[in-house]
Amino acid sequence: MNRSKHTFLFLSAFGFLSSINLMDGTKINAQDDFTGTTAIVGAMLLDGYERPPIHHSAILIQGDRIVSVGTQANTEIPEDANIIDGSGMTVLPGLIDLHVHTMFLGHGDYAEWFPIFEGKEEEMMELAAKQLLMAGVTTAVDLGAPIEIINVRDRINDGRAIGSRLLVSGPWIARRAWGSYPSYFQHVVNSSEEAGQRTQELVDAGVDVIKTWAGMEEADIRAVVDVAHQSGIPVHSHLYTPESIWDAIRGGSDVLQHVGSGGNPDYPEDLIEAIAVRNIPIVQTMAHRIWVYPATIAFPERLQDPRLKEDLPGDLYAEFQRSFVDFERLSYFRSTPRQIRNSKTAARQFIDANVVMGMGTDSGSPLNFHTEAAWREISALVDSGMSPAQAISVSTKLGAEIIGRGSDLGTIEVGKIADLIMVAGDPLSNIQILANIEHVMKGGVLYK
Ligand SMILES: [Zn+2]
Repeated sequence: MNRSKHTFLFLSAFGFLSSINLMDGTKINAQDDFTGTTAIVGAMLLDGYERPPIHHSAILIQGDRIVSVGTQANTEIPEDANIIDGSGMTVLPGLIDLHVHTMFLGHGDYAEWFPIFEGKEEEMMELAAKQLLMAGVTTAVDLGAPIEIINVRDRINDGRAIGSRLLVSGPWIARRAWGSYPSYFQHVVNSSEEAGQRTQELVDAGVDVIKTWAGMEEADIRAVVDVAHQSGIPVHSHLYTPESIWDAIRGGSDVLQHVGSGGNPDYPEDLIEAIAVRNIPIVQTMAHRIWVYPATIAFPERLQDPRLKEDLPGDLYAEFQRSFVDFERLSYFRSTPRQIRNSKTAARQFIDANVVMGMGTDSGSPLNFHTEAAWREISALVDSGMSPAQAISVSTKLGAEIIGRGSDLGTIEVGKIADLIMVAGDPLSNIQILANIEHVMKGGVLYK
């Protein structure tokens, strides 16, 4: 893989990364004895708060931590520091995507995808996690995957693989199966008691979050929440209708996922009010259908993005191209016109009511590639009424707080983990420049 080779050269120039054996057999050997300071110098700094930027900034990093944040003029840069030149750039916290599916890579048809995926689950999920990281997503919550996602998460965490820092649910828990798709990522339950048992099994297996899906009523969600919370594990619920949202609120769910993206008409005021006053975070995942479809009609060339060709092994790239032929007829987009009409009004309802919002993309779903889903969603938040600074804060600081990692992730501040990204230009005047991330640092290691 060409990308791995480039990554290696860049990493070893800075000497940050110890030896890595990637799943595809590529070996990365770099010095692991680097203990000095890295300085990112000259960029405009957005720290994740909605406050004015620091111009011509200097950030010092030691190990995986940020040790100094200030201006170039008032920061003493150690003589032996590795300098990352931020001239003409903006540096901001790494993006936090609260809803991804590493088990999908954007193939056009789920039914055709699963037979391809089977037997190479971990390899495919690892590939997705790497795509996410290279798109600037330093942390991602995977909400629905085979339980082997835990192995991928652990390999990334201890440096054996390259990818976003993952929080994972493994299989979701639902009353109704999703289509006739495989059961290894969906636990269908017949009672609240069984929902609680399944939750305990997932907690014991080591998941970070629990996801509930279709048909779960208040008592089911309560049973899941009771078990999960005993182990300090949050519950994310996938919902569209007002009734199911009320069930999740009353059942004690911690994060409401997909609300307002399924083509529902405006939500009742009392529901929006309940979400707002209880400070229950929502993740709308707005762009995945309403943006993907019209954008692909307008620019079908996006399906041949060179990054896809670079990332996917040759035969897989050809298979993806085959799945994109006649994409207008894919069943996935059947409800898209209705979703387009209603998603923006839902977003405005949440924004106007000051609901706590996080950024999530459902990336991996058909034509919704990990390589670009995050900036599309952030851009959709701006189109729906957020300022660029607010949308960036939602996608960094608030995301970290929603997953309970606000003390060490999500902002560029002294003491925090050095997860940050750099882009050429000013995202406050043009949010879409987040499409082209120049540099990605995660845990003090420069990956791009
Ligand atoms: Zn999803």
